[in-house]
Amino acid sequence: MKAVAIRPGTPDSVHLQDIPRPSVNDVEGGVGVLVKVLKVGVDATDREIAEALYGNAPEGDDFLIIGHECFGIVEEVGPNVRGLKPGDYVTATVRRPGGSIYDLIGTNDMTSEETYYERGINLRHGFMTEYFVDDQEFIVRVPAGLKHLHVLQEPMSCAAKAIHQAYEAQRRMKVWSPKLAYVIGSGQIGLLATLSLKLRGLEVYTLSRSEAPNLKASIVEGLEATYVSTKKTPMKELVEKTGKPDLIIDATGYSPIAFEAMECIGHNGVVVWTSITGGERTAEVPSDKINIEWVLGNKLLLGSVNANRTHFEMGIRDLALGDVMYPGVLENILTNPVDGMDNHAEMMRLLVEDDDALKVYVNVADE
Ligand code: BGC
Ligand code: ZN
Repeated sequence: MKAVAIRPGTPDSVHLQDIPRPSVNDVEGGVGVLVKVLKVGVDATDREIAEALYGNAPEGDDFLIIGHECFGIVEEVGPNVRGLKPGDYVTATVRRPGGSIYDLIGTNDMTSEETYYERGINLRHGFMTEYFVDDQEFIVRVPAGLKHLHVLQEPMSCAAKAIHQAYEAQRRMKVWSPKLAYVIGSGQIGLLATLSLKLRGLEVYTLSRSEAPNLKASIVEGLEATYVSTKKTPMKELVEKTGKPDLIIDATGYSPIAFEAMECIGHNGVVVWTSITGGERTAEVPSDKINIEWVLGNKLLLGSVNANRTHFEMGIRDLALGDVMYPGVLENILTNPVDGMDNHAEMMRLLVEDDDALKVYVNVADE
């Protein structure tokens, strides 16, 4: 069967790869789930993988099948699978366990080992293929009523984790009722984080380089948050108007801004970094100023990567509530479908060249 793969270390090596069709029995213990892939999304991580800045092939292979944002339908289940049946819509978690205590308790996203295994990204093949099989532990059911939001489940899980982590870490405060949040970056993670924070009742400003009116601004406004173009109002000017936020989520992919956020967060506040910046950019920072402000303000910086099953479930609840609270808004994120894996060149073109392509995804198959 067909799959889309790259050769790690070789830029622009996206190609079709012929691989054997998997079987439920590939997973021991009768807990395998065979999934027919319907759609797969691509994001900035895939762009970095295609540029050979990031990602590795599984041991013994010289290619990596890409795709970590999947939406599919269960085709067959092993005899010991519970809670999933053929015909169910599903997505899959991305990270697979290593050997640390965190991996042993189902929180692979928090592994303490340097090596991590991620399907479609690092050392494990991804989902941009006709079928894949995995242990039921990693397959998450998607309600049929969210079918129209298909490939958003995985990015939503990462946004849900970032926000949940912030709340977990802020338990240090005994009382923490954040009122004001900034989300920096209006890509998919920024928009989905905006949604989650609105659902938690915060006043949310979503900052972006691009100037309104545009699609991103209309989605932010559709979520009843405020869109701010940093070209017009730089973050520090915004702080003068709104006061310092209690929470900042950075999802820009641009590291100098991640540091600038450190100058904007309020006392007892938390800044969460979520971007994967595979380059080698350096930036000058006012280190004395940040140092003293952070000490005097008991501020916290948190990195957040990936998401485990619990975060997928949280994300699905947010998408479901968001879809009834702001009907018709979220599907506008899904801007650019590509028809079939054969069109991988078009997929890459949209991903790399089209600044208006908010979400590029491949229609792998019909049901
Ligand atoms: C994926 C995460 C992954 C991260 C780092 C992101 O694009 O969505 O699942 O952990 O890249 O590899
Ligand atoms: Zn991703």
